[in-house]
Amino acid sequence: MKLTLQTQLLHPPDQVCVLEATTRAFNAAADWLAGEAFARKTANKIALQKLFYRTLRARFSLSAQMAVRCIAQVCEAYKRDKTKRPCFRPFAAIPYDQRLMSFKGLDRVSLLTISGRILVPFIMGSYQSERFTAAKGQFDLVRRKDGKWFLLVTVDLPDGTKIPATDFIGVDLGVANIATDSDGSRYSGASVEACRIRNHDLRRSLQKAAVGRKRRRLRPKNIRRKLKSIAGREARFRKDINHVISKSLVAKAKGTGRGIALEDLKGIRDRTRFRKAQRAKMGGWAFHQLRSFIEYKAKREGVELVLVDPKNTSRECPSCGHIDKANRPSQAEFRCVACGHTGHADVNAARNIRSRARALVNAPKVSERHFGLQAA
Ligand SMILES: [Zn+2]
Repeated sequence: MKLTLQTQLLHPPDQVCVLEATTRAFNAAADWLAGEAFARKTANKIALQKLFYRTLRARFSLSAQMAVRCIAQVCEAYKRDKTKRPCFRPFAAIPYDQRLMSFKGLDRVSLLTISGRILVPFIMGSYQSERFTAAKGQFDLVRRKDGKWFLLVTVDLPDGTKIPATDFIGVDLGVANIATDSDGSRYSGASVEACRIRNHDLRRSLQKAAVGRKRRRLRPKNIRRKLKSIAGREARFRKDINHVISKSLVAKAKGTGRGIALEDLKGIRDRTRFRKAQRAKMGGWAFHQLRSFIEYKAKREGVELVLVDPKNTSRECPSCGHIDKANRPSQAEFRCVACGHTGHADVNAARNIRSRARALVNAPKVSERHFGLQAA
């Protein structure tokens, strides 16, 4: 099983020019050489090197090692389909091997460019850092469409290796919406709430009746039985809803190769985002049930579950990061007082949960195995 890992380079602005110039030069050279190879109908590295090595170095300012890599790249592309002249876009990925690059410690890589070696800082997630050691020789330097630079490496993993999620569906649990996910889907609690209110009123009147009868020394057995059955009905109804929601969330996560992120529920009842009345409403058990359903279904389906710090998830602006109570003028509405970003409050909270999980999992981690990179 092949897996491609990517690591973002955190180059300072002045390195962009060098990276761009190097990529352009390499690809211009490759494109020109592809024409020569195609004209001569040869994909022979040694023959092409003999003929064009000097030209590549002089005309495209490639270093010796880059010229060699360039020739290899062209031969490989041409061999794949000899009926076509290979073309190289100006920002096609360019290959880097050990002679062109070396990792310096945990967070910097030295890259050979047309202006000599440059030291570029990079971000590596803990997951990548553990897998990079399995990387063989060649990395690719890639400029993405958004202008960010990445190093890509393809690693071989044993078949069936579980690939930890690097992206998550953030799930916000609430009252108006039992669950809201970071994709914007809301699982309404309206039907549950309607059932609860109906039963609550019924229960109240039955309880009153029971007290009244007690005073009149009548046995309230039938009333107690009735109360019990109402509680049972409500619990079954809530349980059904929780099953439906958890099943749907886990299926979506599995289908899209993501994990699920939830707030750490420890202390959720103390949270200020729930007013007293809401806290009473939540009761606690329903939330714990939904969470435990999500947990066991995720485990059964091999979907990763991550718990994140719930602090200010409903008050933080997902656009600019500003945290303010005033960002949430009403239960359903989010409006950032700093940048004006607006959205559904629960969806925003779910997005914050997602980004916290991503930050948690993809955070650079110092590990011993990471040091193996220096030897690679
Ligand atoms: Zn904002």
